[in-house]
Amino acid sequence: MKIDYHTHHERCGHAKGSLRDMIEAAVALGLDQIGLADHSPFFHREEDRPVPDMTMAKSEFPRYVAEMARLREEYKGRIDVRLGVESDYIPGWAEAYGRIYADYPLDYIIGSVHYVDGIHVFSRRRWQQGNTDPEETYAGYLRLLHEAVRSRQYDIMGHIDAVKGVCPHPVRVLWEETVGIIAESDAAVEINTSGLRKPCQAWFPSLKLIELLIWRNVPLTFGSDAHDPEQLAYDWEHVVTALRELGVRELAAFRRRRRTMVPLPSRMI
Ligand SMILES: [Zn+2]
Ligand SMILES: [Zn+2]
Repeated sequence: MKIDYHTHHERCGHAKGSLRDMIEAAVALGLDQIGLADHSPFFHREEDRPVPDMTMAKSEFPRYVAEMARLREEYKGRIDVRLGVESDYIPGWAEAYGRIYADYPLDYIIGSVHYVDGIHVFSRRRWQQGNTDPEETYAGYLRLLHEAVRSRQYDIMGHIDAVKGVCPHPVRVLWEETVGIIAESDAAVEINTSGLRKPCQAWFPSLKLIELLIWRNVPLTFGSDAHDPEQLAYDWEHVVTALRELGVRELAAFRRRRRTMVPLPSRMI
């Protein structure tokens, strides 16, 4: 099966194309399942849309879910459309976000840490200031990731080593603790290929970390993190081949917050 569970569209303010454009691109690429998972509104903020180039408005969320549900019906038989959201992990707010999502027929929730010390994890600003310690930034990121996993609000943990994305200095990180926390949580981890578009030019997570996750039986899924229909299923073939070489035969898929495993295709390159 060919799947992609991490896609964005124009609602967030920094992606191209509509939900329909993304689904059409998925059909053209021969995907069996397309997961729509735009950035969650900032439900913890007072304003309706405090950061217009980052997320949709709070008041837009019901329309987002309704449009996804309509398109799922319309495309039935051609492609399986799954309804999701990429939820920011905001310390102290994970449960409140979970209560909001419970009112909607979502198939899955991706939990992502996007902010460390108030600065976006993919912002080069942190490093351009010249006074940021990579070790401290990594430690701060991992603390938040551990909290996010332990909140048990998420079906998929998003781009789990995103902190390396624009970090200019290599940092030695022992991932065993993090992988152990994830393994105990029942969350799946996505292989997110958007890191290839970042300075690190690598998947999230890196191959070594993927090996640790496999060793601890953490279910894996695939997400291109496409912000443009052209980025859909990006590097899928290499991911399939690498996972098969590591002995993986299934990927995690989600329906109404329940995980099922679907077969990974045979090696593609
Ligand atoms: Zn985005
Ligand atoms: Zn993200």
